[in-house]
Amino acid sequence: MYRSWLEVSLSQIASNFRAIRKLAGSGVTVMPVVKADAYRHGAVEVSRVLEEAGARWLAVSNVHEGIALRESGMTSRILVMADFLPSSRPLFLDYDLTPAIHSLEGIAAYDELAVAAGKPAPFHLKIDTGMGRLGTRASASEILDALAQTRAARLEGLMSHFASAPNYTTSQTDEQIATFTAVLQHLRNAGVNPAMVHLSSTVPLAYGRKEAWGNLVRPGHAIYGYVSPAKGASSPCLLEVHPALSWKATVLEVKDIPAGAAIGYGGIHTTGRETRIAVLGVGYADGYPHRLSNKGKVLLQGRAVPVLGAVSMDLTTVDASGLDVKPGDAATLLGTDGDESIDAQQIAKLAGTISYSVLCGISSRVVRLYV
Ligand SMILES: *Cc1c(COP(=O)(O)O)cnc(C)c1O
Repeated sequence: MYRSWLEVSLSQIASNFRAIRKLAGSGVTVMPVVKADAYRHGAVEVSRVLEEAGARWLAVSNVHEGIALRESGMTSRILVMADFLPSSRPLFLDYDLTPAIHSLEGIAAYDELAVAAGKPAPFHLKIDTGMGRLGTRASASEILDALAQTRAARLEGLMSHFASAPNYTTSQTDEQIATFTAVLQHLRNAGVNPAMVHLSSTVPLAYGRKEAWGNLVRPGHAIYGYVSPAKGASSPCLLEVHPALSWKATVLEVKDIPAGAAIGYGGIHTTGRETRIAVLGVGYADGYPHRLSNKGKVLLQGRAVPVLGAVSMDLTTVDASGLDVKPGDAATLLGTDGDESIDAQQIAKLAGTISYSVLCGISSRVVRLYV
């Protein structure tokens, strides 16, 4: 028995992956993103099931995430998207990881290491087409000059990332696609033809923005069963996926509190009538957002009931009035109970954040079980 735990369905992850592959079609490789411990679903377990389902590429954020997958026996190609620190560079060669390099100096440095190690060193070059984060803003001819200097490092992929993919009220995505296409065309005209071309995470994939797919897509959120809603006149969502993770907490205590009593830190909720409260073994130290204080909902005995008062570090109080709840019962924070369900997007809305942050914010203190 746990105070709070996750139940992850690996078969749901596999079927989400299959749905994505079907949408992407045979000419487009699907590279699931398993960074941040697979958005808290467990990078090793998730990667294993994805490899079994046919994934040949995985993406992570940093070399340590990549090394953990190699050490657990993963044989896929692994793209490390956001870590080209000098201390990380030798590890790419040691662990057969593929870097996303985001500067021309980075290409030269990687080439030097690869020559010294006498190893093949494929890399993907990330270009900043308007995201204004990682990625080189060098011109195509500067990129060609840098590539011409290399002896061992080899450009395998050209990639970029969108800033506003779900927002169909701005032209930013189209502008980014145009910038990317111009650079790619310039490279191709000069005889440099990267084998892999990729820009799309979940949203441009799910809403069918095919001109941005290239021949590889990088879904994260969709692997875990989520597609963010689009803003404006989007094309329809073509992808059906379902959440793979439920989050539960145990009822530690049930008690009846008279009308007019304050509940929890700061006394920010006062009972308007006699109220039965259930105290749950979960709090913000587990990643249950503090912003759900007096706002959140959890499922108890198939009913959605409100969070009363402040979410504290280790405990959360909810309204159990009219329910026959006992210590040891389970409350569902995220998932389905009877006819009711609540997902990370709904939690995010109540907490004023995004679903990604709700999932990634679930702390390692919360035990993870596979079902
Ligand atoms: C996290 C990330 C992704 C996956 O994004 P989702 O929206 O979760 O599909 C893809 N590409 C890059 C560069 C990322 O950082």
